[in-house]
Amino acid sequence: MTRSTAELIADRKRLLGPNVSTFYQEPLHIVRGEGVWLWDADGRRYLDCYNNVATVGHCNPRVVQAIHDQASTLNTHTRYLHDGILDYAEALTATVDDGLDTVLLTCTGSEANDVALRMAEAVTGKRGIIATDATYHGNTALVSQLSRSNEPKVGFGLEQFFRFVEAPDSYRNPDPDGTAFAAALTKHIAAHEAAGIGFAALVVCPYFLNEGFPQHADGWLRPAAEVVRKAGGFLICDEVQSGFGRTGTHLWAHQKMGVTPDVMTLGKPMGNGHPVGGLVTSAETMRTFRDGYRYFNTFGGNPVSCAAAHAVLHEIHDRDLVENARIVGAHARKRLEDLAMRHACIGDVRGAGLIFGAEMVVDRDTKEPASAFTERVVNAMRDRGFILSKLGRHKNTLKIRPPLVFSIENADSLIDTLDDVLREVPQP
Ligand code: PMP
Repeated sequence: MTRSTAELIADRKRLLGPNVSTFYQEPLHIVRGEGVWLWDADGRRYLDCYNNVATVGHCNPRVVQAIHDQASTLNTHTRYLHDGILDYAEALTATVDDGLDTVLLTCTGSEANDVALRMAEAVTGKRGIIATDATYHGNTALVSQLSRSNEPKVGFGLEQFFRFVEAPDSYRNPDPDGTAFAAALTKHIAAHEAAGIGFAALVVCPYFLNEGFPQHADGWLRPAAEVVRKAGGFLICDEVQSGFGRTGTHLWAHQKMGVTPDVMTLGKPMGNGHPVGGLVTSAETMRTFRDGYRYFNTFGGNPVSCAAAHAVLHEIHDRDLVENARIVGAHARKRLEDLAMRHACIGDVRGAGLIFGAEMVVDRDTKEPASAFTERVVNAMRDRGFILSKLGRHKNTLKIRPPLVFSIENADSLIDTLDDVLREVPQP
């Protein structure tokens, strides 16, 4: 069945529910992808500057082949012996510090975070969790309660176990060495202790992507990690967005930020769109968790998922995509900084590797967020064939997070078009 755009919108409402969100004022109907390109139903081509899931390129031939080969041979689950999960776990653990040497695979990042929180509880015997007040960590009953970027209006009455530390904001509230963040954390840990709940874990994206990727020097998380360790808690680094080379200098953002987590959680780009998530932790933590919880995930770690995930790691390595992210990202940010000299609406330019963007303001002195303007810019870019979005506490930061195969030429056409759009869209 081929539906018109109007029919697609009507049938989504009818069949998926009346309030399922779409991107853009005029939703996109994408039917094909290849590399950094997407095509809509009318054959129009869009440059994908947003989708980190297809990290080694949409429909990457090596990943597609790996999925095809394994799916035409066998797909079962992890209660049978299979080389696939072991080969992948070997490759994955080789990329992180010693001590992070065991793997648990899930289907989503949410599940990985859910398990990580339960690991923290199992090991520390405490239940108090701390996250930032502008984050998102997933959609299970447990982790959805941590998500302040889209605060849930209902819940399971777990809120006494969660505390929210103010998210770092290098533009409005600089904390160059991370000590103010660590000090705030200390207070929240003390509050958990005073309430008799105790402190189990800090869960953070090490590059604070959902919070608006504040600009911090490498090693910025060290003071926070020290506070967490001193209090006997777990440091959970949610690398669902920041991992797999996104930030351009390291495969993992926690390495860039100078810390080693107790648990690193993964998702999104891990299978280039095939649903794979997971976590890496110590053997001791894994043992304690598995002693405490009977955990089985029917689809997590199946041979096809492992084949997809392994092909992604190979592509990142063989095509030097972390270095590509560094080079192309640095070029794009330099060009964005040049734009900022001509467009007063750009208050701040920041990012690392292929997560970068500009924060839009009404006035550079007051830094008043230009949220509605940012929305107009995102829609105008879409109309010109460029897919990107916005994020941060005020939803006024352009979120540019393309597949890692993005080129200098792609970056130039993105910034040239943004230049035109900023000139044409009515200013805040
Ligand atoms: N953690 C972070 C940082 C995320 O951005 C997301 C998804 N946006 C998740 C976890 C949840 O991942 P999933 O949608 O695969 O459950």
